Amino acid sequence: MSKSFDVAVIGAGPGGYVAAIRCAQLGLTTVCIDEWKNPQGKPSLGGTCLNVGCIPSKALLESSENYERAAHKFSAHGIKVEGLSVDIPVMMSRKDKIVAGFTGGVAMLLKKNKVASMHGCGTLLKASKDESGSHDVWQIEVKNGDETDTVEAKHIIIATGSTPRTLPFAPVDNERILDNTGALAMTEAPKRLGVIGAGVIGLEMGSLWRRLGSEVTILEALPGFLLAADEQVAKEARKIFTRESGLIIQTGIKISGIKTNKKSITVEYTDAEGTGNTGESAQKLEVDKLIIAVGRVPNTAGLGVENVGLKLDDRGYIEVDSNCRTNLPDVYAVGDVVRGPMLAHKASEEGVAVAETIAGHKGHVNLDTIPWVIYTSPEIAWVGKNERELKAAGVQYKAGQFPFMANGRARALGETGGFVKVLADAETDRILGIHMIGPYVSEMIAEAVVAMEFASSSEDIARIVHAHPSLSEVLHEAALGVDKRAIHI
Ligand code: FAD
Ligand code: NAD
Repeated sequence: MSKSFDVAVIGAGPGGYVAAIRCAQLGLTTVCIDEWKNPQGKPSLGGTCLNVGCIPSKALLESSENYERAAHKFSAHGIKVEGLSVDIPVMMSRKDKIVAGFTGGVAMLLKKNKVASMHGCGTLLKASKDESGSHDVWQIEVKNGDETDTVEAKHIIIATGSTPRTLPFAPVDNERILDNTGALAMTEAPKRLGVIGAGVIGLEMGSLWRRLGSEVTILEALPGFLLAADEQVAKEARKIFTRESGLIIQTGIKISGIKTNKKSITVEYTDAEGTGNTGESAQKLEVDKLIIAVGRVPNTAGLGVENVGLKLDDRGYIEVDSNCRTNLPDVYAVGDVVRGPMLAHKASEEGVAVAETIAGHKGHVNLDTIPWVIYTSPEIAWVGKNERELKAAGVQYKAGQFPFMANGRARALGETGGFVKVLADAETDRILGIHMIGPYVSEMIAEAVVAMEFASSSEDIARIVHAHPSLSEVLHEAALGVDKRAIHI
């Protein structure tokens, strides 16, 4: 007889494992099914985020930034470093240890909360009535190699995440043509590194390997740069990334083909002016390794979508309402596999909200106040609407802006590039968006999120005492700037 649970969660990324823990906290018997295996072939919980995403990328970005500081920034502090070198295999094993610590930690958390953990691919089979005939019970097959098990659950939470979008003319082998998994596992910096896509992954991976010594060229299809960000932030970012960080960024390109030989990979493309359509006039980029970072697609492979008639939208995401309910009774979906930003914290909060809904509480996620962070140097972070979006919606707004250059803590750090911008409704002064580029803005954005979640006005932030000297004073001054009363500018 198959085991029976109140809730079966399929996927143990930040959406799934967090949902499972919250379900268990709320007294629901819960199983979490996940198929991820680490490079040693062992089950490894935590999904993309812990295994090949957020955590390993941030570990390596930190290591590479330390190297960059020692090589180029310490001298300004009077610190001399001689014979500096970098040991990339050591850097990688530090990253692997951090990953193993967290993936093992998820296993411990599931156990501590009495969540049953099953390894294998979860497939929805069918729903049938329970013994009382009043409630649907779902059957899920869990397949691990040759072994097949079946479990039953009253509620299902699908958290199967996403996989990298592929380009048919550039098949990823993770040896020379890499996706995020390969980009986070190189044991030496290639001399010439190409990156297709100047999105979040392209910029983070490009920055990481540039700091470790590669010559990095990023090719972006769209004519603009970082279109998701505020226009002024994107402009400042492009200036700093190209002039100071040494990234080569070309936008508005169209790839016509990729050729590989034993020694190198050649990307043929036309540039923004359309030059290089064919033959000799084609633009060519010759590199040793190529990272493909052209977005991610929702992952429903093996889930049994067809078996049960689970509705997908025209882009392949599982269709859900604002409470993450799918078209099937008692079946929810959260995280990268549904609409909204593909971010770990969004996945987790949806997981918590769904667990609370199942337990009879009111679960809710405000998709309008989800913070974005890009961990480049300087970092980029925002929450809410940008000026382009406000103009398009015809909203009248006021803006206040303040540079890190005029901030004592930023000067002490020696990180003075960037600014904070506060956008507030012209009439009510309610904050509509806050945009940041500068040092540690990944940490500063939390204040902006709290302000927006509490429907604050810019004056609220302007009246709050901020510690001196701290980077947070830049947000304070930007809020003061909304009414043209910033002090230090
Ligand atoms: P996932 O983390 O993808 O987890 C899904 C899990 O489900 C996987 O373990 C998968 O094996 C399993 N699964 C799939 N199908 C089945 C099935 N049928 N049966 C059993 N198991 C199944 N986000 C941030 O917020 N901050 C960052 O700094 C950040 N950095 C990133 C860096 C990189 C390089 C990448 C690639 C992504 C990054 N992200 C970041 C995005 C973040 O990783 C995702 O948004 C997040 O992992 C989504 O969580 P999820 O639970 O929806 O899915
Ligand atoms: P992305 O959507 O951020 O960027 C992909 C880029 O590739 C876009 O600019 C797109 O125009 C470009 N592109 C698409 N097709 C192309 C082509 N044929 N030639 C050239 N350029 C092309 O996607 P990503 O960078 O792959 O990251 C995927 C997602 O992972 C992100 O959207 C984000 O949700 C998540 N992520 C988040 C973080 C973070 O929070 N710091 C870090 C990494 C990834």
